[in-house]
Amino acid sequence: MKYGIISDIHSNLEALETVIKALGQEQVDRYICLGDVLGYAADPLACLGVLKAISPIIVSGNHDWGCIGKLGMDYFNKPAEEAITWTKDNLSSEYKDWLEAMPLVEKIGPLTLVHGSLYRPEKFYYVLDHISARTSLNSLEDGQHVCLVGHTHIPGIFIEENELLRYSYADSVTIEPQKRYLINVGSVGQPRDRDPRASFVVYDTETRALKINRIKYDIRKTQEKILEAGLPRILARRLPLGR
Ligand code: ZN
Repeated sequence: MKYGIISDIHSNLEALETVIKALGQEQVDRYICLGDVLGYAADPLACLGVLKAISPIIVSGNHDWGCIGKLGMDYFNKPAEEAITWTKDNLSSEYKDWLEAMPLVEKIGPLTLVHGSLYRPEKFYYVLDHISARTSLNSLEDGQHVCLVGHTHIPGIFIEENELLRYSYADSVTIEPQKRYLINVGSVGQPRDRDPRASFVVYDTETRALKINRIKYDIRKTQEKILEAGLPRILARRLPLGR
């Protein structure tokens, strides 16, 4: 089974379409989405439509929760809050049930999917360092050894072997059953690791190869739509900076 894994699309249609096309060429069998479909950019409905068509295994992110009123606005900074308010006004009822029904955690075989930290997932804590990575790994249920997350918009791989946890600077890893992994798949629609290219992961369960990929998309078009929609200018300016 080949999985195409994406996260943090944030209503960026150009990035999403580019990534889905690339995953199509990789001939993935199944899609996984780790949440934050909504927020920041100007194409919430189109992105929901594209996702619905590929019927991914999906968990909810904090922006998705914000857009359906499950998370208070005090969680968000000003531009994020403005984008959520705008998205709420532009959301049609046809997707509300789907958004409402999205769980916070999903399990597929040894994989656990969650948007932020697996420790109290409803709090959407960030997994940014060894301590928070360990906390998530220690929240895995028995039989689970790979935790897939998004939320920080910074892709990365933590590997735990014999209770020793290390951060890998490689963009790929071979998943071994006796080790535990926390994989941050990065962001499709708003990368923040100073690389503006959309991030996505391919995981092949046969070869056990997992790889973080990056791909260029039409950033200018996304920026124009953000500005045309009257969304905060910072949300357009940050995209080519990858932060
Ligand atoms: Zn996000």
